Amino acid sequence: MSLPQFKLLRLRTVEDAVSALARHAGVGARATRIVAGGTDLIPSMQQKLFEPEYVLDVRHIAELKGIRETAEGVEIGALTSLTAIEQSPLLRRHYLVLTEAAGTVASPVLRNMGTIGGNICLDTRCLWYNQSLTWRKGCGFCIKKDGDLCHVAPGGTKCWAVFSADTPPALLCLDAEVEIASASGTRRIPLADFYTGEGDDYRKLHPDELLTRVFVPRSSANYRAVYRKLRVRGSIDYPLAAVAVALKRVNGHIADAHLAITAVNPAPMLVKGVSELLSGKALDESLADAAGDLAAKTARPLTTSALTPEYRREMIRVFTKRAVLAAADVQ
Ligand SMILES: Cc1cc2nc3c(=O)[nH]c(=O)nc-3n(C[C@H](O)[C@H](O)[C@H](O)COP(=O)(O)OP(=O)(O)OC[C@H]3O[C@@H](n4cnc5c(N)ncnc54)[C@H](O)[C@@H]3O)c2cc1C
Ligand code: SF4
Repeated sequence: MSLPQFKLLRLRTVEDAVSALARHAGVGARATRIVAGGTDLIPSMQQKLFEPEYVLDVRHIAELKGIRETAEGVEIGALTSLTAIEQSPLLRRHYLVLTEAAGTVASPVLRNMGTIGGNICLDTRCLWYNQSLTWRKGCGFCIKKDGDLCHVAPGGTKCWAVFSADTPPALLCLDAEVEIASASGTRRIPLADFYTGEGDDYRKLHPDELLTRVFVPRSSANYRAVYRKLRVRGSIDYPLAAVAVALKRVNGHIADAHLAITAVNPAPMLVKGVSELLSGKALDESLADAAGDLAAKTARPLTTSALTPEYRREMIRVFTKRAVLAAADVQ
């Protein structure tokens, strides 16, 4: 499959990148696209899901690469590769849930190319959307691109395409924030506020904005952590349901717990009420079951992906129970 025609702008500083975005942001299908590792953008352009007039290559912006310890915690440049995150001794020591999740993305080659910024900004996915132009045309297109109906939930007006990146649920468990830059300055927001929950317009990022950094606070360091992921091919595949757990144990009791899920909703979701459920208690099977029930209630899988919604929701329940027990060392 060939790429559509576009003009490539190669930038070397954030300042140049945001001023190029201000000049060429564009709108709709022709809006400018940022390319970082390109592991998702390029295949999507080949399928004509994006047909931008300009592509902004930010791969050479050195100031956005690397992991740095700060007084507040850790700062990760948006262009840091997933391999660098997976292998970082600092992150492995203090933020294990993130390195575990990063280590499950795609394959080693794709993790060398793929960036944390690209993973956070990853487009939502659907069986009716991630297809060639000819295939989508044969089905009459859909709301997410070129059409006005949804094949997954016919009759509705909402797109349910599923958010399928691995690191965001880990980052949600760590209370991470993201920095977003534009020509008018920078803003910093909790990652939890970055996603909209809509499958088509899934992130709060204006066409003239660049995600520049991720911040993980010191208060989230040293939690026990587990990441569990369901996928068809263990060696290289998007999650079809996945669970990130980070918890703190003091004197055999849970002191704090965070649980997030991905690949079962149009956004990665923090499961509410988990800390209240587990805190102050010694974890046992029935508490872990209750955490699994909470997670399964938060999951709203539909027929967007290879496995059935019922199975994916059930696996959220099962993985949550196992992950919570493993993180608390009860097994
Ligand atoms: C076979 C295969 C398997 C895969 N398996 C997985 C998997 O298991 N788990 C998973 O999470 N992903 C998977 N992916 C998707 C992808 O490889 C990763 O999500 C990767 O982290 C994307 O990062 P990237 O830098 O390559 O993003 P790109 O492809 O460069 O960009 C992805 C999107 O983010 C936007 N973007 C990138 N950087 C920025 C920025 N700094 N600011 C604003 N917007 C930005 C781009 O415009 C684009 O919309 C898979 C891909 C393939 C081809
Ligand atoms: S959920 Fe519906 S509108 Fe969204 S991509 Fe799938 S078929 Fe299209």
